[in-house]
Amino acid sequence: MKTADLAQVLAQVKSSLRDLQQQGIEGFNCRPEFLRIVGRWTETPSCLAGDAAGQKAEGESLKEIKDDLGNCFRCPLHKGRSKIVFGEGSPKARLVFVGEGPGYEEDRSGRPFVGPAGQLLDKIIAAMKLDRSEVYICNIVKCRPPGNRNPAEDEIEACLPFLKRQIASIAPEVICTLGSVAAKTLLGTQSPISILRGRFHQWMGIKLMPTFHPAYLLRNPERKREVWEDVKKIMAFLRIPL
Ligand code: SF4
Repeated sequence: MKTADLAQVLAQVKSSLRDLQQQGIEGFNCRPEFLRIVGRWTETPSCLAGDAAGQKAEGESLKEIKDDLGNCFRCPLHKGRSKIVFGEGSPKARLVFVGEGPGYEEDRSGRPFVGPAGQLLDKIIAAMKLDRSEVYICNIVKCRPPGNRNPAEDEIEACLPFLKRQIASIAPEVICTLGSVAAKTLLGTQSPISILRGRFHQWMGIKLMPTFHPAYLLRNPERKREVWEDVKKIMAFLRIPL
């Protein structure tokens, strides 16, 4: 390895360790899944480099991405869907919410988070002193998994490039993942949501805050306090006064 290359690697390691320190992590975690995450920090984001389903990259609009998605048949989820739920909100949102996949009402309407969980998300957004039209709301997969099961690996793999392109197009300051599937997918980890939530992570150079899914909160209202703590951290980062 050339001296210049070595210096670049060391600079990246130093920057990564500083990032960890800022997140309150004092020791270096050498578990394989953690090293995989650290390894990605120096990759060129596939959303910028282009990938299997995402040939276009920088500068494309959400409409262009939607047009490219078309009447998608790229994974088996197309068989049971009524409507593709592409996502909605401001194309210049500072904050993007990413859920897991559409449910019954979303599949019928073609809009994300419109059922009871969506109504709770609306309340969370309002508590953040934001309007739904100011944020962007989308999911890991855009078609409803049958019986609301978790999306399978191949379904996520087929759909994720479009989400990456949407986020690259919006370029938000913060991503808030809702629930376990979204957090684990984007962070490439198997750690439970209860461990991941409560602090910022990095994803493709963007701050990412995992929190509980509103549907989980409907079943476990005692966890709302933790979501409020997560939300307050996002507000502080976005400089929204309490
Ligand atoms: S879930 Fe995504 S990849 Fe699968 S059919 Fe729907 S839009 Fe296409």
